[in-house]
Amino acid sequence: MKAGFPNASRSSKSVISLEKVEKLYGTFKVLQGVSLNVGSGEKVVICGPSGSGKSTLIRCINGLEDHHGGRISVNGCELTEESRDQIRRAVGMVFQQFNLFPHLTVIENCTLSPIWTLKLPRREAEAKALQYLERVRIADQAHKYPSQLSGGQQQRVAIARSLCMEPQVLLFDEPTSALDPEMVNEVLQTMQELASEGRTMVCVTHEMGFARSVADRIVFMDGGTIAEEATPQEFFSNPKSSRLKDFIGQLR
Ligand code: ADP
Ligand code: MG
Repeated sequence: MKAGFPNASRSSKSVISLEKVEKLYGTFKVLQGVSLNVGSGEKVVICGPSGSGKSTLIRCINGLEDHHGGRISVNGCELTEESRDQIRRAVGMVFQQFNLFPHLTVIENCTLSPIWTLKLPRREAEAKALQYLERVRIADQAHKYPSQLSGGQQQRVAIARSLCMEPQVLLFDEPTSALDPEMVNEVLQTMQELASEGRTMVCVTHEMGFARSVADRIVFMDGGTIAEEATPQEFFSNPKSSRLKDFIGQLR
């Protein structure tokens, strides 16, 4: 656990541990030795310019992309070819484009993995799905198809779907970037509620109001490295690098 982040001391054990993680696309090193620990219950916001490696980093954490150097561990288990499926079950992921199955209803989207991967009986999977759809206030739409819902509603379904796998940690990759402005808040509010339940969350987002109120720590990525990390207070009031000063200056 890094010193200097008081909120991180809630747990002495890291749920996510990255040690000098490297990732290449061809000869291009997109992650250049990234080290990061996320403790149980901790909320980490990742921001940074487009192309700085944010999506690649969180895709590596749940094994959607292979890393080529360093170590990634989730709950003390190193991510390898053999552990990948187990780790992917422990790590929920919410994407910018929702990624719901268009030919399945809301509830079918939520029960598919629990039934096929966790081998839950259908009835149990449906009860759990309804419980989480209720949590994101969309249970009344359970039998609709994604195309019949607004973007904000679809993203809340995607969050519920992820919760149905009872993940140890939730990763979000710009979950509000594809939404019309009037739908951003309903999704941020849902995320805020999850945060207040003590869930461990890593969110790539440029919603700095959310970062300010929810993050224990904000990480600024630049050129495939973590250029700076700090508590929200420190991050905004005392940015150290000129890149971060520029970045903050460009925010709305
Ligand atoms: P961010 O999410 O911070 O915008 P990404 O992680 O998506 O950044 O991308 C980091 C860099 O890697 C960018 O330069 C991007 O063009 C490149 N990149 C991303 N995905 C691929 C890919 N599948 N193949 C080749 N290059 C990629
Ligand atoms: Mg991205």
